[in-house]
Amino acid sequence: MKPDFKSLTLAELSSLLKANGQPAYRAGQLMQWAYERAAESFDAMSNLPAPLRQWLAETFDLWTVRELREQHSTDTTEKFLWQLRDQQLVETVLIPATPGLTSRADRHTVCVSTQVGCAYGCRFCASGLAGFRRNLTAGEIVDQILAIIRIGRTAGIRVAGETGQPDSDFRINNIVVMGMGEPLANYTNLIKALRIINAPWGLGIGARKITVSTSGLAPQIRTLADEAMQFRLAVSLHAPTDEVRSKIMPVNRKYPLQDLIAACEYYGRVRGRMLTFEYILIEDLNDSFELAGKLAALARQVHAKVNLIPYNTVEGLPWRRPPTNRCLAFAQQLKKHGILATLRVDKGTDIAAACGQLRLRTERDN
Ligand code: SAH
Ligand code: SF4
Repeated sequence: MKPDFKSLTLAELSSLLKANGQPAYRAGQLMQWAYERAAESFDAMSNLPAPLRQWLAETFDLWTVRELREQHSTDTTEKFLWQLRDQQLVETVLIPATPGLTSRADRHTVCVSTQVGCAYGCRFCASGLAGFRRNLTAGEIVDQILAIIRIGRTAGIRVAGETGQPDSDFRINNIVVMGMGEPLANYTNLIKALRIINAPWGLGIGARKITVSTSGLAPQIRTLADEAMQFRLAVSLHAPTDEVRSKIMPVNRKYPLQDLIAACEYYGRVRGRMLTFEYILIEDLNDSFELAGKLAALARQVHAKVNLIPYNTVEGLPWRRPPTNRCLAFAQQLKKHGILATLRVDKGTDIAAACGQLRLRTERDN
Protein backbone atom coordinates (compact mmCIF):
# COMPACT_ATOMS: atom_id res chain seq x y z
CA MET A 1 0.00 0.00 0.00
CA LYS A 2 1.18 3.53 -0.77
CA PRO A 3 1.68 6.02 2.06
CA ASP A 4 -1.35 8.26 2.55
CA PHE A 5 -0.96 11.91 1.68
CA LYS A 6 -2.95 13.22 4.64
CA SER A 7 -0.52 11.73 7.12
CA LEU A 8 2.01 14.34 5.96
CA THR A 9 2.68 17.59 7.78
CA LEU A 10 3.55 20.72 5.82
CA ALA A 11 7.18 20.42 6.94
CA GLU A 12 7.39 16.79 5.78
CA LEU A 13 5.81 17.60 2.43
CA SER A 14 8.09 20.61 1.94
CA SER A 15 11.26 18.61 2.38
CA LEU A 16 9.98 15.85 0.09
CA LEU A 17 9.17 18.35 -2.65
CA LYS A 18 12.44 20.16 -2.15
CA ALA A 19 14.31 16.88 -2.63
CA ASN A 20 12.38 16.56 -5.90
CA GLY A 21 13.56 19.95 -7.09
CA GLN A 22 10.18 21.66 -6.69
CA PRO A 23 9.90 25.36 -5.79
CA ALA A 24 9.18 26.16 -2.13
CA TYR A 25 5.63 27.42 -2.71
CA ARG A 26 4.42 24.07 -4.06
CA ALA A 27 3.88 22.51 -0.65
CA GLY A 28 1.46 25.27 0.37
CA GLN A 29 -0.33 25.01 -2.96
CA LEU A 30 -0.76 21.27 -2.52
CA MET A 31 -2.05 21.59 1.03
CA GLN A 32 -4.56 24.17 -0.15
CA TRP A 33 -5.85 21.73 -2.75
CA ALA A 34 -5.93 18.88 -0.27
CA TYR A 35 -7.62 20.69 2.65
CA GLU A 36 -9.24 23.99 1.72
CA ARG A 37 -10.60 22.56 -1.52
CA ALA A 38 -10.84 18.91 -0.43
CA ALA A 39 -9.67 17.91 -3.91
CA GLU A 40 -10.90 14.59 -5.22
CA SER A 41 -7.64 13.57 -6.88
CA PHE A 42 -4.13 14.82 -7.57
CA ASP A 43 -5.19 15.13 -11.17
CA ALA A 44 -7.82 17.72 -10.20
CA MET A 45 -5.05 20.04 -8.89
CA SER A 46 -5.10 21.96 -12.13
CA ASN A 47 -2.40 24.56 -11.47
CA LEU A 48 0.27 21.95 -10.70
CA PRO A 49 2.57 20.71 -13.48
CA ALA A 50 1.36 17.43 -14.98
CA PRO A 51 4.57 15.47 -14.21
CA LEU A 52 4.31 16.49 -10.54
CA ARG A 53 0.67 15.39 -10.39
CA GLN A 54 1.66 12.09 -11.91
CA TRP A 55 4.52 11.59 -9.45
CA LEU A 56 2.20 12.39 -6.55
CA ALA A 57 -0.41 9.92 -7.76
CA GLU A 58 2.23 7.21 -8.13
CA THR A 59 3.69 7.92 -4.70
CA PHE A 60 0.65 8.59 -2.47
CA ASP A 61 -2.98 7.74 -1.99
CA LEU A 62 -4.82 11.07 -1.65
CA TRP A 63 -7.89 9.54 0.05
CA THR A 64 -8.05 6.66 2.52
CA VAL A 65 -11.80 6.39 3.10
CA ARG A 66 -14.54 5.28 0.75
CA GLU A 67 -18.15 5.86 1.76
CA LEU A 68 -19.96 2.58 2.22
CA ARG A 69 -23.11 3.59 4.02
CA GLU A 70 -24.76 6.71 5.36
CA GLN A 71 -27.50 6.53 7.97
CA HIS A 72 -29.86 9.34 8.85
CA SER A 73 -31.54 9.44 12.20
CA THR A 74 -34.76 11.13 13.18
CA ASP A 75 -32.89 13.04 15.87
CA THR A 76 -30.68 14.54 13.12
CA THR A 77 -27.35 12.84 13.70
CA GLU A 78 -25.80 11.30 10.65
CA LYS A 79 -23.59 8.27 10.69
CA PHE A 80 -21.01 7.46 8.03
CA LEU A 81 -19.51 4.04 7.57
CA TRP A 82 -16.23 4.04 5.64
CA GLN A 83 -14.21 1.35 4.03
CA LEU A 84 -10.47 1.76 4.38
CA ARG A 85 -7.92 0.72 1.79
CA ASP A 86 -7.45 -2.69 3.44
CA GLN A 87 -11.25 -3.26 3.54
CA GLN A 88 -11.51 -2.57 7.28
CA LEU A 89 -14.51 -0.54 8.42
CA VAL A 90 -14.67 2.57 10.60
CA GLU A 91 -17.44 4.95 11.43
CA THR A 92 -17.86 8.66 12.00
CA VAL A 93 -20.86 10.53 13.38
CA LEU A 94 -21.89 14.04 12.34
CA ILE A 95 -23.88 15.93 14.98
CA PRO A 96 -25.42 19.18 13.75
CA ALA A 97 -26.66 21.84 16.12
CA THR A 98 -29.57 23.94 14.93
CA PRO A 99 -30.29 27.33 16.46
CA GLY A 100 -34.00 26.77 15.81
CA LEU A 101 -36.17 23.99 14.45
CA THR A 102 -36.56 25.38 10.97
CA SER A 103 -33.19 26.94 10.27
CA ARG A 104 -30.26 25.02 8.89
CA ALA A 105 -27.61 23.64 11.17
CA ASP A 106 -25.00 26.31 11.64
CA ARG A 107 -22.63 24.29 13.78
CA HIS A 108 -21.39 20.80 13.14
CA THR A 109 -19.57 18.44 15.47
CA VAL A 110 -17.83 15.37 14.12
CA CYS A 111 -17.14 12.32 16.27
CA VAL A 112 -14.08 10.49 14.88
CA SER A 113 -12.69 6.99 15.34
CA THR A 114 -9.02 6.35 16.04
CA GLN A 115 -8.76 2.56 15.76
CA VAL A 116 -10.50 -0.32 14.01
CA GLY A 117 -12.13 -1.99 17.00
CA CYS A 118 -10.73 -1.53 20.48
CA ALA A 119 -8.53 -3.64 22.72
CA TYR A 120 -9.90 -2.30 26.00
CA GLY A 121 -12.99 -4.47 26.11
CA CYS A 122 -15.30 -2.34 28.23
CA ARG A 123 -18.24 -4.62 29.02
CA PHE A 124 -20.90 -2.17 27.83
CA CYS A 125 -19.33 -1.12 24.53
CA ALA A 126 -19.90 -2.38 20.98
CA SER A 127 -16.38 -1.41 19.87
CA GLY A 128 -14.87 -3.56 22.57
CA LEU A 129 -17.01 -6.57 21.60
CA ALA A 130 -15.34 -7.38 18.31
CA GLY A 131 -11.82 -6.89 19.62
CA PHE A 132 -8.95 -4.88 18.19
CA ARG A 133 -7.85 -4.91 14.54
CA ARG A 134 -5.43 -2.04 14.06
CA ASN A 135 -4.57 1.59 14.68
CA LEU A 136 -5.72 4.20 12.19
CA THR A 137 -3.05 6.30 10.50
CA ALA A 138 -3.06 10.06 11.04
CA GLY A 139 -4.41 10.46 7.50
CA GLU A 140 -7.27 8.04 8.15
CA ILE A 141 -8.30 10.09 11.18
CA VAL A 142 -8.09 13.37 9.23
CA ASP A 143 -9.92 11.92 6.20
CA GLN A 144 -13.02 11.07 8.27
CA ILE A 145 -13.56 14.80 8.77
CA LEU A 146 -12.41 15.95 5.35
CA ALA A 147 -14.63 13.41 3.56
CA ILE A 148 -17.69 14.74 5.41
CA ILE A 149 -16.71 18.30 4.47
CA ARG A 150 -16.41 17.19 0.85
CA ILE A 151 -19.80 15.45 0.93
CA GLY A 152 -21.40 18.52 2.56
CA ARG A 153 -20.00 20.80 -0.12
CA THR A 154 -20.52 18.67 -3.19
CA ALA A 155 -23.51 16.40 -2.52
CA GLY A 156 -25.16 17.88 0.55
CA ILE A 157 -26.09 16.14 3.77
CA ARG A 158 -29.69 15.50 4.70
CA VAL A 159 -29.84 16.55 8.33
CA ALA A 160 -31.59 18.94 10.68
CA GLY A 161 -33.92 20.62 8.26
CA GLU A 162 -31.23 20.77 5.63
CA THR A 163 -32.51 19.57 2.33
CA GLY A 164 -29.34 17.90 1.23
CA GLN A 165 -28.33 20.72 -1.07
CA PRO A 166 -24.61 21.17 -1.62
CA ASP A 167 -23.37 23.97 0.62
CA SER A 168 -20.11 25.47 -0.56
CA ASP A 169 -19.69 26.99 2.90
CA PHE A 170 -20.16 23.72 4.77
CA ARG A 171 -17.73 23.51 7.68
CA ILE A 172 -17.01 21.58 10.82
CA ASN A 173 -16.73 23.52 14.08
CA ASN A 174 -16.02 20.90 16.74
CA ILE A 175 -14.25 17.58 16.89
CA VAL A 176 -14.84 14.96 19.55
CA VAL A 177 -12.51 11.98 19.55
CA MET A 178 -15.15 9.60 20.91
CA GLY A 179 -15.71 7.16 18.08
CA MET A 180 -14.35 3.67 17.82
CA GLY A 181 -11.09 2.94 19.61
CA GLU A 182 -9.03 4.23 22.50
CA PRO A 183 -7.35 7.40 21.20
CA LEU A 184 -4.55 7.45 23.77
CA ALA A 185 -3.56 3.89 22.79
CA ASN A 186 -2.79 5.28 19.30
CA TYR A 187 -1.00 8.27 20.72
CA THR A 188 1.52 9.22 18.02
CA ASN A 189 -0.95 9.03 15.12
CA LEU A 190 -3.61 10.81 17.19
CA ILE A 191 -1.37 13.78 17.99
CA LYS A 192 -0.18 14.01 14.41
CA ALA A 193 -3.78 13.96 13.14
CA LEU A 194 -4.84 16.62 15.65
CA ARG A 195 -1.91 18.78 14.58
CA ILE A 196 -3.05 18.54 10.95
CA ILE A 197 -6.67 19.20 11.95
CA ASN A 198 -5.53 22.23 13.94
CA ALA A 199 -2.97 23.64 11.47
CA PRO A 200 -3.83 26.78 9.46
CA TRP A 201 -2.71 24.92 6.29
CA GLY A 202 -4.84 21.92 7.36
CA LEU A 203 -8.40 22.02 8.65
CA GLY A 204 -7.83 25.07 10.84
CA ILE A 205 -9.99 23.87 13.74
CA GLY A 206 -8.98 25.44 17.08
CA ALA A 207 -7.48 23.15 19.73
CA ARG A 208 -10.13 24.29 22.19
CA LYS A 209 -12.76 22.92 19.81
CA ILE A 210 -11.19 19.48 19.98
CA THR A 211 -12.06 17.04 22.79
CA VAL A 212 -10.18 13.80 23.37
CA SER A 213 -12.00 11.08 25.31
CA THR A 214 -10.12 8.31 27.10
CA SER A 215 -11.10 5.28 29.12
CA GLY A 216 -8.36 6.26 31.56
CA LEU A 217 -4.81 5.59 30.36
CA ALA A 218 -3.15 7.39 33.24
CA PRO A 219 0.42 7.73 31.86
CA GLN A 220 -0.82 9.05 28.49
CA ILE A 221 -3.10 11.57 30.24
CA ARG A 222 0.05 13.03 31.80
CA THR A 223 1.82 13.10 28.42
CA LEU A 224 -1.22 14.81 26.88
CA ALA A 225 -1.16 17.42 29.64
CA ASP A 226 2.37 18.33 28.56
CA GLU A 227 1.52 18.74 24.85
CA ALA A 228 1.82 22.22 23.36
CA MET A 229 -1.73 22.13 21.98
CA GLN A 230 -4.56 22.89 24.39
CA PHE A 231 -7.13 20.16 23.68
CA ARG A 232 -10.02 19.44 25.97
CA LEU A 233 -10.01 16.18 27.88
CA ALA A 234 -12.91 13.88 28.72
CA VAL A 235 -12.35 10.89 30.98
CA SER A 236 -14.79 7.96 30.74
CA LEU A 237 -15.18 7.34 34.44
CA HIS A 238 -18.49 5.44 34.55
CA ALA A 239 -18.01 4.39 38.19
CA PRO A 240 -16.50 6.11 41.25
CA THR A 241 -15.28 2.96 43.05
CA ASP A 242 -12.69 0.39 41.95
CA GLU A 243 -15.14 -2.37 42.73
CA VAL A 244 -17.79 -1.21 40.26
CA ARG A 245 -15.37 0.22 37.70
CA SER A 246 -13.31 -2.98 37.44
CA LYS A 247 -16.53 -4.91 36.78
CA ILE A 248 -17.22 -2.99 33.57
CA MET A 249 -13.81 -1.60 32.55
CA PRO A 250 -10.83 -4.00 32.52
CA VAL A 251 -8.51 -0.97 32.13
CA ASN A 252 -9.27 -0.16 35.76
CA ARG A 253 -7.18 -3.12 36.89
CA LYS A 254 -4.16 -1.68 35.12
CA TYR A 255 -4.79 1.93 36.16
CA PRO A 256 -7.01 1.90 39.25
CA LEU A 257 -8.85 5.03 40.36
CA GLN A 258 -6.00 6.23 42.53
CA ASP A 259 -3.64 6.39 39.51
CA LEU A 260 -6.31 7.77 37.20
CA ILE A 261 -7.40 10.50 39.60
CA ALA A 262 -3.76 11.48 40.23
CA ALA A 263 -3.25 11.81 36.46
CA CYS A 264 -6.41 13.94 36.21
CA GLU A 265 -5.14 16.17 39.02
CA TYR A 266 -1.85 16.55 37.16
CA TYR A 267 -3.73 17.50 34.00
CA GLY A 268 -5.73 20.11 35.89
CA ARG A 269 -2.59 21.52 37.53
CA VAL A 270 -0.63 21.80 34.28
CA ARG A 271 -3.55 23.01 32.18
CA GLY A 272 -5.43 25.08 34.71
CA ARG A 273 -8.73 24.11 33.19
CA MET A 274 -11.67 21.84 33.87
CA LEU A 275 -11.91 18.37 32.47
CA THR A 276 -15.06 16.34 31.93
CA PHE A 277 -16.04 13.04 33.47
CA GLU A 278 -18.22 10.99 31.15
CA TYR A 279 -20.58 8.82 33.16
CA ILE A 280 -22.88 6.32 31.43
CA LEU A 281 -25.91 5.62 33.61
CA ILE A 282 -26.57 1.87 33.74
CA GLU A 283 -29.54 0.55 35.68
CA ASP A 284 -28.75 -1.02 39.05
CA LEU A 285 -25.04 -0.89 38.36
CA ASN A 286 -23.83 2.67 38.86
CA ASP A 287 -27.01 4.75 39.33
CA SER A 288 -27.44 4.75 43.13
CA PHE A 289 -27.40 7.95 45.19
CA GLU A 290 -24.53 6.53 47.21
CA LEU A 291 -22.41 6.34 44.06
CA ALA A 292 -23.59 9.82 43.05
CA GLY A 293 -22.08 11.10 46.30
CA LYS A 294 -18.78 9.33 45.62
CA LEU A 295 -18.74 10.61 42.05
CA ALA A 296 -19.31 14.15 43.34
CA ALA A 297 -16.31 13.81 45.67
CA LEU A 298 -14.01 12.74 42.83
CA ALA A 299 -15.31 15.48 40.53
CA ARG A 300 -14.65 18.07 43.22
CA GLN A 301 -11.15 16.70 43.82
CA VAL A 302 -10.06 17.05 40.17
CA HIS A 303 -12.27 20.03 39.35
CA ALA A 304 -14.32 18.14 36.75
CA LYS A 305 -17.77 18.65 35.37
CA VAL A 306 -19.87 15.58 34.80
CA ASN A 307 -21.55 14.56 31.56
CA LEU A 308 -24.24 11.96 32.28
CA ILE A 309 -25.18 9.69 29.36
CA PRO A 310 -28.13 7.29 29.66
CA TYR A 311 -26.86 3.91 28.44
CA ASN A 312 -27.43 3.12 24.78
CA THR A 313 -28.57 -0.48 24.51
CA VAL A 314 -26.17 -2.75 22.61
CA GLU A 315 -27.52 -5.96 21.09
CA GLY A 316 -26.27 -8.98 22.94
CA LEU A 317 -25.28 -7.11 26.12
CA PRO A 318 -27.26 -7.35 29.36
CA TRP A 319 -27.19 -3.69 30.44
CA ARG A 320 -30.17 -1.35 30.45
CA ARG A 321 -30.65 2.37 30.83
CA PRO A 322 -32.36 3.56 34.00
CA PRO A 323 -35.78 5.23 33.71
CA THR A 324 -35.59 8.93 32.87
CA ASN A 325 -36.69 10.09 36.33
CA ARG A 326 -33.84 8.06 37.83
CA CYS A 327 -31.33 9.77 35.50
CA LEU A 328 -32.74 13.18 36.42
CA ALA A 329 -32.58 12.39 40.14
CA PHE A 330 -28.95 11.25 39.79
CA ALA A 331 -28.08 14.53 38.06
CA GLN A 332 -29.93 16.44 40.79
CA GLN A 333 -27.91 14.62 43.42
CA LEU A 334 -24.65 15.79 41.82
CA LYS A 335 -25.92 19.37 41.63
CA LYS A 336 -26.83 19.20 45.32
CA HIS A 337 -23.17 18.45 45.98
CA GLY A 338 -22.24 21.55 43.96
CA ILE A 339 -21.06 19.69 40.86
CA LEU A 340 -21.68 21.00 37.35
CA ALA A 341 -23.62 18.17 35.72
CA THR A 342 -25.40 17.77 32.41
CA LEU A 343 -27.66 14.94 31.35
CA ARG A 344 -26.90 14.44 27.70
CA VAL A 345 -30.00 14.42 25.58
CA ASP A 346 -29.46 11.37 23.51
CA LYS A 347 -28.28 11.79 19.95
CA GLY A 348 -28.41 9.03 17.44
CA THR A 349 -29.92 6.21 19.45
CA ASP A 350 -32.00 4.99 16.54
CA ILE A 351 -29.01 4.71 14.25
CA ALA A 352 -26.84 3.14 16.89
CA ALA A 353 -24.56 6.08 17.50
CA ALA A 354 -22.86 4.48 20.46
CA CYS A 355 -19.38 3.79 19.29
CA GLY A 356 -18.81 0.74 17.16
CA GLN A 357 -22.40 -0.34 16.80
CA LEU A 358 -22.84 0.35 13.09
CA ARG A 359 -19.65 -1.42 12.14
CA LEU A 360 -20.54 -4.41 14.26
CA ARG A 361 -23.95 -4.68 12.65
CA THR A 362 -22.54 -4.38 9.13
CA GLU A 363 -19.90 -7.05 9.74
CA ARG A 364 -22.54 -9.38 11.15
CA ASP A 365 -24.83 -8.81 8.19
CA ASN A 366 -22.11 -9.51 5.66
N1 SAH B 1 -12.22 4.83 24.05
C1 SAH B 1 -12.55 6.15 24.44
C2 SAH B 1 -13.27 6.95 23.39
C3 SAH B 1 -14.30 6.21 22.59
S1 SAH B 1 -15.73 5.67 23.48
C4 SAH B 1 -13.32 6.14 25.74
O1 SAH B 1 -13.70 5.07 26.18
O2 SAH B 1 -13.50 7.20 26.30
C5 SAH B 1 -16.62 7.20 23.63
C6 SAH B 1 -17.62 7.22 24.74
O3 SAH B 1 -18.77 6.40 24.43
C7 SAH B 1 -17.06 6.68 26.06
O4 SAH B 1 -17.39 7.53 27.12
C8 SAH B 1 -17.76 5.35 26.14
O5 SAH B 1 -17.76 4.88 27.43
C9 SAH B 1 -19.11 5.66 25.57
N2 SAH B 1 -19.92 4.49 25.25
C10 SAH B 1 -19.50 3.30 24.80
N3 SAH B 1 -20.53 2.45 24.64
C11 SAH B 1 -21.65 3.14 25.01
C12 SAH B 1 -23.04 2.82 25.08
N4 SAH B 1 -23.48 1.63 24.73
N5 SAH B 1 -23.90 3.79 25.52
C13 SAH B 1 -23.45 5.01 25.85
N6 SAH B 1 -22.15 5.37 25.80
C14 SAH B 1 -21.27 4.45 25.38
FE1 SF4 C 1 -12.71 0.96 23.87
FE2 SF4 C 1 -13.81 3.26 24.74
FE3 SF4 C 1 -15.35 1.19 23.97
FE4 SF4 C 1 -13.95 1.02 26.23
S1 SF4 C 1 -15.62 2.47 25.79
S2 SF4 C 1 -14.12 -0.59 24.66
S3 SF4 C 1 -12.09 2.11 25.68
S4 SF4 C 1 -13.98 2.37 22.67
